Amino acid sequence: MPIFPRKPKYTIVKVAKKRDIPSDLWTRCSDCNELIYNKKLEENLRICPKCNFHFLLGARERIKVLLDDGSFKEMDAGMASLDPLQFKGPKTYIEKLKKDQELTGLKEAAITGQGVIDGHKVIVGVTDSRFIMGSMGSVVGEKLTRAIERSVETKYPLIIVSGSGGGARMYEGMFSLMQMAKTSAALTRHNKAGRMFISILTNPTMAGIMASFASLGDIIMAEPKALIGFTGPRVIEQTIRQKLPPGFQKSEFLLKHGLIDMIVNRKNMRETLSRIMSYSWRK
Ligand SMILES: [Zn+2]
Repeated sequence: MPIFPRKPKYTIVKVAKKRDIPSDLWTRCSDCNELIYNKKLEENLRICPKCNFHFLLGARERIKVLLDDGSFKEMDAGMASLDPLQFKGPKTYIEKLKKDQELTGLKEAAITGQGVIDGHKVIVGVTDSRFIMGSMGSVVGEKLTRAIERSVETKYPLIIVSGSGGGARMYEGMFSLMQMAKTSAALTRHNKAGRMFISILTNPTMAGIMASFASLGDIIMAEPKALIGFTGPRVIEQTIRQKLPPGFQKSEFLLKHGLIDMIVNRKNMRETLSRIMSYSWRK
């Protein structure tokens, strides 16, 4: 027997099999990494109980959270996209629409209508970032424009809640880009008529949505920690070849630099809107 036995060349490491976390039971917070029980997350209006990160809220759920029970009357519910360019990519536009309609239960990326918040009548629009990233195709642009015009006619304040990872919808090319000018022009008329527009930015509000109606509010609110901007931080870093400051394009950073007026927790949103409307409501 040798005095110094040779060590085995390889060490066998036992790896415990990772247990799969059933996604229908738990969600991992993308901000603090905490595992949250889904039921608890829903009860907490989809806000992380540990770090206050506001998870995505679908358009229908948003309306439920914001408006008085049963007060919502939807406008233009049947309006659906056509395929003006007969776009064909890895998926055709028609296929993409169908897929996202099934995924979200929505016909398009925006819902608009009339409702009541704590007794105040309002015109409301919500975009849903799960539907083709919440991008502004012709239908989204047209629905929002009609909502803006309805606010002018009725004199009810206009509230638009934005959630959009991308503004332009490539499947509609120029028709999509036109919607930025259309919604902005409608808001100019709205402003000249002396109506109030409260814009609420949620995670994420980016690109053509932020570059048009979302940044034109008389009052601009944002949910905490929301990503808000035009181009994503990585692209900006690559373009200017500089490191961006920490927290760049987050609600807190934008409030500090004057781009938005206030950060409002989802749980206080209804109450805050109600208070603003009771101050400024003019007949
Ligand atoms: Zn968290």
